[in-house]
Amino acid sequence: MSLRFEVAATTPEGGRRAALHLPHGTVQTPVFMPVGTAATVKAVPHEMLEQIGANTSGPHNTAPDIILANTYHLYLRPGHQTIRRLGGLHRFMSWPRPMLTDSGGFQVFSLAKLRKITPEGVEFRSHLDGSAHFFSPEHSIEVQIALGADILMAFDECVETPATHERTRDSMALTHAWAARSKAYFDAHKYEVPWAQELEATQSLFGIVQGGMYPDLRRESAQRLVEMDFDGYAIGGLAVGEPREVTREMIARTLELLPANKPRYVMGVGYPDEIEEYARMGVDMMDCVLPTRAGRHGLLFRRAQPGESLPTTPAPTAINSDETTPTEATPETQSGSIVRMNIKRLEYAEDPSPIDPTCACLVCRRYTRAYLRHLFVAREPLGATLNSIHNLAFYLDTMARVRADLAK
Ligand SMILES: [Zn+2]
Repeated sequence: MSLRFEVAATTPEGGRRAALHLPHGTVQTPVFMPVGTAATVKAVPHEMLEQIGANTSGPHNTAPDIILANTYHLYLRPGHQTIRRLGGLHRFMSWPRPMLTDSGGFQVFSLAKLRKITPEGVEFRSHLDGSAHFFSPEHSIEVQIALGADILMAFDECVETPATHERTRDSMALTHAWAARSKAYFDAHKYEVPWAQELEATQSLFGIVQGGMYPDLRRESAQRLVEMDFDGYAIGGLAVGEPREVTREMIARTLELLPANKPRYVMGVGYPDEIEEYARMGVDMMDCVLPTRAGRHGLLFRRAQPGESLPTTPAPTAINSDETTPTEATPETQSGSIVRMNIKRLEYAEDPSPIDPTCACLVCRRYTRAYLRHLFVAREPLGATLNSIHNLAFYLDTMARVRADLAK
């Protein structure tokens, strides 16, 4: 057994309520996956992660069913062979639930220095110490098998934005060639995962649809990858600064072409209102660093209170935009019913209310805005932890509400 995907209900808009059965447990979808870059969801102990949403008065247990880890970071430090010798990622980091690793491609293209791309793979220098490394599709899969997540990703090229049609098509062709090589290596070695014998199971491999912002290329990419028959499909290369209508259109057009009986994953999105929208369109899985990254920078998400109306701006689509790192003077805004709150602002210095009176998370049940502002201003590490827990709870609760709606 590697993966079993059971769709329980589909809405006329295409949204699906499903269960994704993996070797380390079952994931209720649509799901938001917190990002544990270096085998840690930054600043949040696993005990806290497991309690998010548990024992609350809300209708759903929203604790995360699955988290992500980044192959590039773990390959460089502590090294995939070290993790393999310690039994794989689940055992190394003491996380018994399902996990997914990315291919390392995105980080190689965005973080590593002096990279050189050839049809064979990518040469790069570590952002840590400048040492030279080479990633090919085969090597990426070898590293991901050693790490041992339940789901791993084919190695792909991430084209820069904006890019011409010709440049995007060439990049997409390379991604397709690398997808075929990733799958061939995986099929030959998938029973080498550290827990294969213990669980009598193995990993699953997802392909990644590319094609930039060009519908014809997205179509071609989806068709080619479906022919290769992956266990699931990701839509990559979005939320890189394009207008939000374009992101939505690329997702909608690609979803139409992907098989209904396999999970569909949009990588690296987004703001809370976006993940809700995409889930209702039929996206089953999403991940983003935003809840934890924004939390560490004092940006908190909450639902608008009845009658409340703040200046409205759509959520920015580039997750790395300045808006996720507000200063004390950054005004608060609203997108739909979701407020982007800036805990650094002076108005919270003596505010005894919780971040969100309707949130049942362990932070909102215990701590005040005044205390959270104090922790942030005093640069106390607990501030980053509590802010991250609330934002994660907010994201996970958002998806729990969508799941309940889709099942109706
Ligand atoms: Zn909360």
